Amino acid sequence: MSFPIEQIRQMFPVLHQEVHGKPLIYFDNAATTQKPQSVINSLEGYYLHDNANIHRGAHALADRATRYFEDTRETVQKFLNAKESAEIIFTKGTTESINLVAYTFGRKFIQTGDEIIISTLEHHSNIVPWQMLCEEKGAILKVIPINDAGEIIYEEFEKLLSPKTKLVSVVHASNALGTINPVKKIIYSAHAVGAKVLLDGAQSTSHLEIDVQDLDCDFMALSAHKLYGPTGLGVLYGKREVLEAMPPFQGGGEMIKEVTFEKTTYNEIPFKFEAGTPNIGDVIAFKYAIDFINETSKSAIKEHEEGLLSYANELLGSIKGFIPVGTAKEKVSVLSFNINGMHPFDVGVMLDAKGIAVRTGHHCTQPLMKRLGLEGTVRASFAVYNSKSEIEKLAEGVAQIARIKNK
Ligand code: PMP
Repeated sequence: MSFPIEQIRQMFPVLHQEVHGKPLIYFDNAATTQKPQSVINSLEGYYLHDNANIHRGAHALADRATRYFEDTRETVQKFLNAKESAEIIFTKGTTESINLVAYTFGRKFIQTGDEIIISTLEHHSNIVPWQMLCEEKGAILKVIPINDAGEIIYEEFEKLLSPKTKLVSVVHASNALGTINPVKKIIYSAHAVGAKVLLDGAQSTSHLEIDVQDLDCDFMALSAHKLYGPTGLGVLYGKREVLEAMPPFQGGGEMIKEVTFEKTTYNEIPFKFEAGTPNIGDVIAFKYAIDFINETSKSAIKEHEEGLLSYANELLGSIKGFIPVGTAKEKVSVLSFNINGMHPFDVGVMLDAKGIAVRTGHHCTQPLMKRLGLEGTVRASFAVYNSKSEIEKLAEGVAQIARIKNK
């Protein structure tokens, strides 16, 4: 069956507009994806009919809001194939999920002289929290090097592992280059020295089938807004035994069992990590984003996006002056590139004038850019609603821009 691209595009109202007098071509999906009508309807429906605080209310609206909120938790559990819904914690996003682990797991289990391993591919949100922790604890941050294609050098990773390694925190799929890391192997090797593993799933969860039990990761962080869901909402998956061993993150309502001025006891997971009133409306709407992905099917999405990426490589690859950045064998649908003699930002502005939205710059991966000897790249990242004809427009646009400096 062919991919129902027109039907899917109809579900995303934002796509049907012109910018600078040209039909919008949205290729900034690694930054954030657009939202289907079902997600928008859910947000509106919640505030029109169901708005109430959850878990405590003795009235119908509170009951309904609580049920819908917990439905999303179960939907996320199934989406990641977590063992139980208590292992799904709602956060503000990938950034907060990683910081939560740094503050709680990190402060309890990482001591002076211990080592944390990350990779050269990391987003700043999977670098800075560990630097802050290492500074506070006198722990050491080690970095897995990469080759020129943008792949981690596995043998070097193995050399970094030792009984001192307490945590390996790596990106599943790179936002800047698209590289998919060999995470199953990484997790296996890390566990062999007794280290826990956190996967930054911000980019992988919208493109790849995820099974946290099969991967055997201890934590996975993700953001709803990169999965066709609302902004300001994310998930931390953690194995029950690991979450239970961790102290709470923030103190406040909801995360307690009993409070007296002398002593407070804490709630069970996941509530122990969800202090205060959560982002109820957005959590409820997130379910519809996951339903959309499930109904479209992850495998069909993956096949479609792989088709877009290889078509883009084929068309742009033949343009004089086109320089691909990141040529890993295993990639999600991210095409990072430069044009010979041009600054990425200028290329981005010229593409915008043609109605094509891309990202330019360091993509919050400054150490990676430094390793590649680049100031930044132009990044076109593809999603479920992008089409081959849009890729052709991108290639036409890039060819026109490249001709300015590459006659
Ligand atoms: N990690 C990766 C790989 C990302 O792409 C992003 C978002 N660009 C983040 C972490 C941070 O996500 P958020 O801003 O939603 O917290």
